[in-house]
Amino acid sequence: MRLVIVSNRVTIPDRHEKVMAGGLAVALREALEQRGGLWFGWSGAVSEGAPAPVRQVEHGNVTYAVTDLSEAERQSYYLGFSNRALWPLMHYRLGLTEFQRSDYMGYLGVNRRFARALAGLIKPDDMIWIHDYHLIPLAAELRRRGVTNRIGYFHHIPWPAAEIMGVLPFSATLIRTMAAYDLVGMQTEVDARNLIDGLVSLCGARSDGRRVRLGPRETTVRAFPIGIDVEGFRRLAAASARQATTPLRATRESLGQRKLVIGVDRLDYSKGIVQRLEAFGEFLRDHPEERGRVSLLQIAPPSRSDVPEYADLDRQSDEVAGRLNAQLGEFDWTPIRVVKKAYSRKALAGFYRRAQVGLVTPMRDGMNLVAKEYIAAQDPADPGVLVLSRFAGAAQQMSEALIVNPFDSHEVAEAIRTALAMPKTERIRRFEKLYAIIAATDIDWWTRQYLLALSGEAGAAEALA
Ligand code: UDP
Repeated sequence: MRLVIVSNRVTIPDRHEKVMAGGLAVALREALEQRGGLWFGWSGAVSEGAPAPVRQVEHGNVTYAVTDLSEAERQSYYLGFSNRALWPLMHYRLGLTEFQRSDYMGYLGVNRRFARALAGLIKPDDMIWIHDYHLIPLAAELRRRGVTNRIGYFHHIPWPAAEIMGVLPFSATLIRTMAAYDLVGMQTEVDARNLIDGLVSLCGARSDGRRVRLGPRETTVRAFPIGIDVEGFRRLAAASARQATTPLRATRESLGQRKLVIGVDRLDYSKGIVQRLEAFGEFLRDHPEERGRVSLLQIAPPSRSDVPEYADLDRQSDEVAGRLNAQLGEFDWTPIRVVKKAYSRKALAGFYRRAQVGLVTPMRDGMNLVAKEYIAAQDPADPGVLVLSRFAGAAQQMSEALIVNPFDSHEVAEAIRTALAMPKTERIRRFEKLYAIIAATDIDWWTRQYLLALSGEAGAAEALA
């Protein structure tokens, strides 16, 4: 069975691999190379002269088929409906949710255009795997064009409670389109339950708790928590400890004997960066003896900067870090460093390993891969401690982390103190449990489980789960 993957953005691998591919992109590419297949989606470029043609590039037994968006499509489908309506809503941020009818029409339009182009490329026994919230209605559009192949969807971000989803105009129409899939994968059991509740309460579907029937098809909804390349990260981090790459050496020199707390996130309001800086300030205020002994390094590469809420966050994080540094810093010690640029996986692995505390405190997150990367990068003989928000999907698996509520700055501040003071035996005990779970559910496990279930060998997948 050939595999067809569809995602909002498609990066055609260039021969020199200058762009660092993330764990997911690599895993999906490997799955395609194993079976042969097609990867379809937006090129990332904008061009006028609609509708943009589809360009195909062959790489071994994998075909990449991409299309540009028009500027109007980028505004409505991508920046508008996907990132100003669905993203905040699905992260439980009703106050930030901006719904425009014209954006929704643009979103449906791009999904329709993708379906039209894709339908012409599909062969009868292809298995189709669609990724993420930009493309929710794609299967329904394909079905309307007579596609009867098995089609699966994976939702990388949270799926909120039906009460929250119901706020979105046309939500019943949109949720209904999920019933066009054979298999829907969610990050957690809670997300899976929320979708099923939504299908039942807003769309009148019937369900036995795992399968949903609405119209002609039966849809299976299950959690498949996404993983990382644990072994790869472990190796990168161990190598960085031996080689001391330039940024890591510089960090060591500038920190000296001081302890390091690390945060790594796209500059996104769902990540709780400002709340985290405030909690670190509270920790230093409540525990003056720790001043001068520890610094927070927050790596925060900018993202979606043409969405206004992201520009606000950019300013706000500078202001809070500046204020706390001015109030609490000394001539020879800067409490907080915020670095707004992206680092390679190799550099991150080095930073993670040097840090005594990994501070992962999103207000809401589908999974959060940084939490898993931090654990994978630790020295097993002297590991650091993970402080993890209970609102990250990762918390469902990583219960040996120090689990916190990111809305409670006092609780986060105390967890930082507990983490810094934790005896080595307890650090090792927690690390070993966390490492075992992320290694058992790594990115290869995730791809295999999902594709096994999608290929119809659902019984086999259930038995393995
Ligand atoms: N990342 C990176 N360089 C950076 C910051 C982040 O390569 O400077 C990577 C990080 O290693 C992780 C991913 O970006 O693999 C972020 O994934 P996560 O699930 O934590 O959050 P998302 O950005 O997908 O919401």
